[in-house]
Amino acid sequence: MHTTMHKKTSRPRELTPQAKIMRTLQKQGLKLTRQRKVILEVFLDMDGHPSPEEIHREIHRQGHNLGISTVYRTLKVLVETGVVRKLEFGDGQGRYEQRDERTQHLHLVCKQCGQTFEVPTIAVDWLFEELAENHAFALHSHTAYLYGLCDACIAESSENRDNHEEERITP
Ligand SMILES: [Zn+2]
Repeated sequence: MHTTMHKKTSRPRELTPQAKIMRTLQKQGLKLTRQRKVILEVFLDMDGHPSPEEIHREIHRQGHNLGISTVYRTLKVLVETGVVRKLEFGDGQGRYEQRDERTQHLHLVCKQCGQTFEVPTIAVDWLFEELAENHAFALHSHTAYLYGLCDACIAESSENRDNHEEERITP
């Protein structure tokens, strides 16, 4: 479960994702300063849902000197343009992902270890569309968070339970 859901599928296309996003931003009249380009390139190369701190760390690791406030400001701008989405996993920090309308997914969030798993929403897309329709709402995109325990944490908790069988109190 852990490995398969993280796998990124590569789609053949004429433009690299980076180039495509740069073009989208330029069309919107956003000035692509050197700083913004660095932040965007580092962010797009990172897997998962990095936080501003993680992006900032990676920027430094690659030898660029940018302040964390610049990272925050740029992410905010990128969210406003719609190419980046801000997510809340309940761990107190905003996390960011590239927004791609063609690969809509929902997030399974493990409340124990904080891992998140992306699940394609194809099977439930009709439900979101129906919900929107019932409210005369023009649906552009969607995401959802499902909170619970991942399989590793379930296994761990059942191991602990087996070890402390005598202490177990049934709720
Ligand atoms: Zn977990």
